[in-house]
Amino acid sequence: MVKTSPRASATMDREVKVTVLGAGLMGHGIAQVASQVGGYGVSILDVEQSFLDRGMKMIRDSVGRFVDKGKLTKDQGEDTVKRIRPTLDLAEAMKGSQLVIEAATEEPKLKLDLYRRISELIEKDTVLASNTSSISITLLASATKYPENVCGMHFFNPPQLMPLIEIIKGKKTSEQTIQKVRDVSAKLGKETVLCKKDSPGFIVNRILVPALNEAVFLVQEGVAEPEDIDKAVKLGLNWPMGPLQLLDYVGLDTTLNITQVFMNEFQDSKYRASPLLRELVRAGMLGRKTGKGFYSWDGGSATKPRS
Ligand code: NAD
Repeated sequence: MVKTSPRASATMDREVKVTVLGAGLMGHGIAQVASQVGGYGVSILDVEQSFLDRGMKMIRDSVGRFVDKGKLTKDQGEDTVKRIRPTLDLAEAMKGSQLVIEAATEEPKLKLDLYRRISELIEKDTVLASNTSSISITLLASATKYPENVCGMHFFNPPQLMPLIEIIKGKKTSEQTIQKVRDVSAKLGKETVLCKKDSPGFIVNRILVPALNEAVFLVQEGVAEPEDIDKAVKLGLNWPMGPLQLLDYVGLDTTLNITQVFMNEFQDSKYRASPLLRELVRAGMLGRKTGKGFYSWDGGSATKPRS
């Protein structure tokens, strides 16, 4: 009945500690998976108590849904939450940790400051894995004293449900680090792929983001209505969701930022963002999170064509 690994109940595993930095959209889900499926003791850190409280609430709500669906027993649900310790203190969060997964805000300066502080506290054999979508792993590693211990560990949203982790090798990442992250990913019940090079967008976003941008060009050029573009891709390519609806989920601003990273890094105009994408971002029509993008969002879930 239960989808947790047998490790979840093993006493020894409670001694293995995973630290998650950032209790936002991704961090709370990663912490939950580490506890629920991996059976690890987890520390989760954020910069304000209210962010930690919000992250822990999201975890409790999500665990509750697993219990309601019969995928976890009530006891397993309670144990999952109990194994996760929220803290505002970086030293406390890092103490005794074998794996630190960083899921803080996607801003290079903020992350580099954080990596410098982590570097003062990290033990020599602790792996530091970043969930960044677009920032160079090699750059982040350069801010630490053990760059060989740093790699990318890119989860997909929501981490509780999505089966893939992209593992990214930075310029100095050791094979041992990659192997440790592979082992942990397997214990979390995830499939992995290896990016042998630290290249912008890794695999999935390198393919996805230009496809989403192209769908916006189709709207801009008046080739078809958004609903028909989504319908075509769903039925013709068997995507579970059309590209414009997916854009609304991911956030138009996030997608625009990634196209800009691609333009800067690859110096190739094929990654140029659609002017319509820019215009909608300027208008604050960022998708689901602002209630309007290519669709109007009612209460965060129901969609109808944007008026
Ligand atoms: P988010 O804004 O929901 O959460 C980020 C959290 O980090 C916030 O709660 C913020 O307060 C916290 N934070 C900021 N500075 C911190 C610090 N110094 N120490 C600890 N916490 C700090 O963002 P998110 O969507 O969860 O994204 C987090 C990371 O995951 C980013 O690198 C992003 O690129 C990556 N990512 C996001 C998605 C997605 O779909 N949103 C998917 C894959 C990867």
